[in-house]
Amino acid sequence: MPSTTVWLFFAILFSIKKYESEEFIPQEKIQDILNIIKTTILFRKNMAEKSYKCESPNCNRKFDEYERSLTNSNNCIFHCNKDNWYELEGENKNWQISEEKREYFWKKLNESIIEQNIYRSDKLLNRYSFKNFIFPYNYGNFFPRDTLDVTNFSKISKDIYFEECVFLDNIEFSFIVFDGVVSFCDNLCSSEIMLSNCEFKTLVAIKNEKEFKGTFNFYNSKFFDEVRIENSHIRELELFSCEFNSLFNLNNSILHKIDFEYTKLKGVSSFKNTKFINKLDLSNSLISGELNLLGIEVTGINRETARIIKNSFEQQNNIIEANKFYALEMKEREKELEADLKKGKNFFEWLVFKIHGISSNHSQDWLLALFWIINFTFAIGIIENNFSMFGVNFISFIPFIFIMTISLCLSTLENIFKNIFLIFFSLISYGLYSLITCDFQLYKVVNHINPFSVMNSWDNLTFGEFLYKIIIAYLIYQLIISIRQNTRRK
Ligand SMILES: [Zn+2]
Repeated sequence: MPSTTVWLFFAILFSIKKYESEEFIPQEKIQDILNIIKTTILFRKNMAEKSYKCESPNCNRKFDEYERSLTNSNNCIFHCNKDNWYELEGENKNWQISEEKREYFWKKLNESIIEQNIYRSDKLLNRYSFKNFIFPYNYGNFFPRDTLDVTNFSKISKDIYFEECVFLDNIEFSFIVFDGVVSFCDNLCSSEIMLSNCEFKTLVAIKNEKEFKGTFNFYNSKFFDEVRIENSHIRELELFSCEFNSLFNLNNSILHKIDFEYTKLKGVSSFKNTKFINKLDLSNSLISGELNLLGIEVTGINRETARIIKNSFEQQNNIIEANKFYALEMKEREKELEADLKKGKNFFEWLVFKIHGISSNHSQDWLLALFWIINFTFAIGIIENNFSMFGVNFISFIPFIFIMTISLCLSTLENIFKNIFLIFFSLISYGLYSLITCDFQLYKVVNHINPFSVMNSWDNLTFGEFLYKIIIAYLIYQLIISIRQNTRRK
């Protein structure tokens, strides 16, 4: 091309020279024309020489002097560092200083999307692939919409892949029907990727092993095919009023915050080994499909969610897991009763719940029930002993109160070493009991622990002993139920 221009230049020069002799055009005009042609050619030559190639891996995009002046680096506008494109105002970014650069970025991006649309009909290239892109703020939609009518959806039939990109600010894809795959893989983001009011006809896949510190917001979207968010660590997933019609797979992922409000789960939802760090609330979601929740980890959970999870495990005959969530359900019920109690309601119900929780963790913890049987008996044994030998001796209440207080503290403890503490303290109680009563072989304990031992006659049963028998009978019942809960088959 440059050689053609040079030839053209000589041709024009020749004709001008020819006209010059005939005094057809004034001398000054000719000089002006000559200058214009000269500068144009020089400029074109310079531009052709100063073409740059993006140094980002897998890019190789060529760009000109103007783009170079905007990026101020060896990377193109898509891959250049954009840390100086905004000013931090608290947690927000102010992008005013980079208006020209941002406009150029989105203009070039749209051009390249259109280019792909026109030229790349090849099946293999039937996708938008954004690799290592650094996205600045964009006012409006990522794929520009022809209309502002919200009932009029844009349609994108190509697959879209975002790989190892950085989203510096919010990005929006709203009111779009995605006919191809939508995939986000190992991106960095601390803001929001908004995919609200969309329809996803095929696979949606998100994989982010490093923490994705932003939000994926699918507000009011519909998924007609699989949604795979596996082995990912995501700060926030907004699924308000979404509809999942096929498999929703969240396996082996960590989620800090997730919103299932009015979410319809119509297909199989699999949360295998998924960790919900902040809260999981399924109480307002509509679940008509199957739930697979094996190995699920939750920290904050309300009663209804615990009940839903328990039910799901029960349906799959996974009684051990179901029991775990039954205990959580009970704990939440207890909290509700505590709130009622503050309003002066349901005192007895609260009391029964409390005792049930302390004695056996709502029939889940057989060791706790056994711990109470042993320690309560040792504590009573110490008093009984002194009663019979020395008459009423209030000093004997000291070890009794000691054993009971520590037992109460230990049974409400939530610690992974709780069981070790329980066993260790039982040994201390045994030491105290045997030293005070000299009953090293636990002869009296064994005889008293049997709730029916003296029931065959009316003679020896004092009212105190009668109360003891009732409590021990209750604890033994809890022990049996707890063991059964952990081993039963439906
Ligand atoms: Zn590039």
